[in-house]
Amino acid sequence: MLLVKTFPLLSVISKAKTPLRLGRHCKFRCCSPSLIFSGDGNCIRSSPSSMQTMTHLTTLATSQSTSISKTSSERLYKKAMKKARMELPENILKHKLDMCSRHRKLIEALQLYDEARRNGVQLSYHHYNVLLYLCSFAAVGSLAESEDGEDDVNVKNLGMTRGIEIYQQMNIDKVAPNEATFTNAARLAAAMEDPEMAFDLVKQMKSSGIPPRLRSYGPALFGFCEKGEASKAFDVDAHMIECGVVAEESELAALLEVAIERKIGEKVYEMLHRLRSSVRQVSESTAKVVEKWFRSDYATDVGKETWDAAKIKEGIVNGGGGWHGQGWLGNGRWRVTRTNMDMKGVCQSCDEKLVCIDIDPAETAHFAGSLPKLACQKESKVNFLKFEEWLRQHGPFDAVIDGANVGMQNQHYFSFFDLNSTVNQLRQLSPSKKLPLVILHRSRVHGGPAEDPKNRRLLQRWKESGALYATPAGSNDDWYWLYAAVSCNCLLVTNDEMRDHLFQLLGTSFFPRWKEKHQVRTSFSRGVRLHMPPPYSIIIQESENGSWHVPTVTGDDIGNPRQWLCATRARNMSARSPSLEQIWRGQ
Ligand SMILES: [Zn+2]
Repeated sequence: MLLVKTFPLLSVISKAKTPLRLGRHCKFRCCSPSLIFSGDGNCIRSSPSSMQTMTHLTTLATSQSTSISKTSSERLYKKAMKKARMELPENILKHKLDMCSRHRKLIEALQLYDEARRNGVQLSYHHYNVLLYLCSFAAVGSLAESEDGEDDVNVKNLGMTRGIEIYQQMNIDKVAPNEATFTNAARLAAAMEDPEMAFDLVKQMKSSGIPPRLRSYGPALFGFCEKGEASKAFDVDAHMIECGVVAEESELAALLEVAIERKIGEKVYEMLHRLRSSVRQVSESTAKVVEKWFRSDYATDVGKETWDAAKIKEGIVNGGGGWHGQGWLGNGRWRVTRTNMDMKGVCQSCDEKLVCIDIDPAETAHFAGSLPKLACQKESKVNFLKFEEWLRQHGPFDAVIDGANVGMQNQHYFSFFDLNSTVNQLRQLSPSKKLPLVILHRSRVHGGPAEDPKNRRLLQRWKESGALYATPAGSNDDWYWLYAAVSCNCLLVTNDEMRDHLFQLLGTSFFPRWKEKHQVRTSFSRGVRLHMPPPYSIIIQESENGSWHVPTVTGDDIGNPRQWLCATRARNMSARSPSLEQIWRGQ
């Protein structure tokens, strides 16, 4: 009983009445009393108490009979080993630091660090990274609240000074850094307003064979941009490109802004095109930066006065439409407005018609081919293969309906009436008058409103026509309607904006373009109304006369039209007859 009191783990063993046998895996071959070997042969440093635990366990084990099953003894052995490992001072420290990181407790983490150093606890890169993470967050002022009455400035300074000291100590201790170490150190450098150091750290990271990530570049890139050091910021950009790291909207917007400030017209042009190809639609803050460029005096003077129209046309064809990429065209002040497009994609400000950029069918085929592989990683393979076969027999379709989304659009109850109305409207729109495919989870097809005789007849009719697929229990129907619509390359009816985890797996290079051209949204006002995909591409467009149209991102409200930034030059406008507003203003 004394043993049980001293070592709680033994109570489990004694209650189980299962003698513990430490088999051939138990190798106490260390000469140092502070070390033990784990089951897999690795040497683990042990605290005196955990060592005692192990000794007692061994004694207990050998004194008992050997009737216990091997699995049970191994389980207990592993459990004991795990407990012993957990009691190691470095693991206790790791756990406590992780808690500090979770609750963003810098001061407590620093106290733990100081105490550990005093006690000679061996620190690994994990301990250092947690400490550096907390220090760098404090240094840039991102720790939500001041701790223990410390004011924000003190916390920032503390993060900075202790962070640098800890990073240096890590080097002295020869603890190999990883990507997180370098990134946190770069953040500390940025907090000290030293983007040079932040960039040096990224270069060191690369030369140490650790591939930098997008976040590794942020401190250097934003640091140079804030200081207005455009050429250095573009050096960081070049390093990113060299390492295959793709800049996202915030990095491109910062580079755009610094290029505007430093009046580097060709870089502004390059950044607008990179935003076009990778971001497509810009946030409000980026739209303001773009606006700032077109309203600047410098932008007035940038551009070719004459150009070869045939060459521009050739550029548009080669680029796939919507841009030519041959530099600023025209001269004179830009006319910048916030405007909307009509149903056909005609700009309400300058009357220019936006283009529709086609998707290469080979890209769609490739994407459709990759979907089942992804789906089978998440869904039951047997079920999904069955669906593929079913689709081969009953398809192709002109439209696919996400039944759960359409049936629930009034948000109060599942409506077969709305679903049927959507089915009928789509059938009318179909060139062959074929029924669309309705995908519904099995639970919607049995029980509840599905048991209503009218709804049952409806479901039966769809089923007999091969226009209903009930996804099996436990499945995520999103994979089914998505695969059906992409493989048939047809319309997809859903108000799901397809932004959750599942859709993020699909990447950003193809799926957003496919969605824009195929998603039909619905609204509900005295019946279901379909909103067809726009006949133009919602992407930054550069026209052959040099004007620009920049779409902003919108929320999910269909009734709220998307805002576009229209930038044209007075000279480019002269071909059009002036609007009433222009005559009134004397333009
Ligand atoms: Zn326009």
